[in-house]
Amino acid sequence: MNKEICLATSNKGKLREYREILAPMGFVIYCPSDLGLDIDPEETGTNYRENSFIKARALSEAVNMPVIADDSGLEVNALDRFPGLFSSRFAKDCGGYPEAYAEINRRLEGKEDRSAQFVCCICYLEKKDAKPLYFEGECPGFILPSSVGSNGFGYDPLFHASEIDADLGVTPEEIKNKISHRAKAIRKLEIFLAIS
Ligand code: IMP
Repeated sequence: MNKEICLATSNKGKLREYREILAPMGFVIYCPSDLGLDIDPEETGTNYRENSFIKARALSEAVNMPVIADDSGLEVNALDRFPGLFSSRFAKDCGGYPEAYAEINRRLEGKEDRSAQFVCCICYLEKKDAKPLYFEGECPGFILPSSVGSNGFGYDPLFHASEIDADLGVTPEEIKNKISHRAKAIRKLEIFLAIS
């Protein structure tokens, strides 16, 4: 089995998590910049699957190894699952993550339901024209009234993960990587790779 995979991301937080979870299984995870590539297709999909496919396909056209792409986001239930697909763009539009945390809390003012989930969809393409395979995971929790800690990346400091009853901003990465949306999707991918 080819144990080299290229991950379609420039997000260092994502890359670190993939490497930490997949390295013990003998996988070597590259990112486009490791291979001298700069690939940033427009994410024009209307759901996580479509966006993960767009990213995986663009990369698979440029490399000669299996690729994975991850599209993920934070869904706040009382905000109709916003920012969801727009999680990264929303933070940019707000001027940064601390501003995005404040804006989410402003939008939640007066609402009792603070439940939320991180969701992740991985698209795996063995080669350019292969059938795309999808692996998904969710991590339930709620939005904290203000950020806590600085571990992880993105919205982690604003999120309390129900399954471990802990604020992700102060949770060690190896614990997050047991219960996160991404970890769950990666485990499914791992099972597929082990039997294929
Ligand atoms: P993508 O690169 O388009 O998939 O954007 C995903 C965005 O969702 C990230 O940039 C973060 O803002 C957010 N996100 C996804 N997964 C996580 C996570 O594990 N922790 C914190 N934020 C996340």
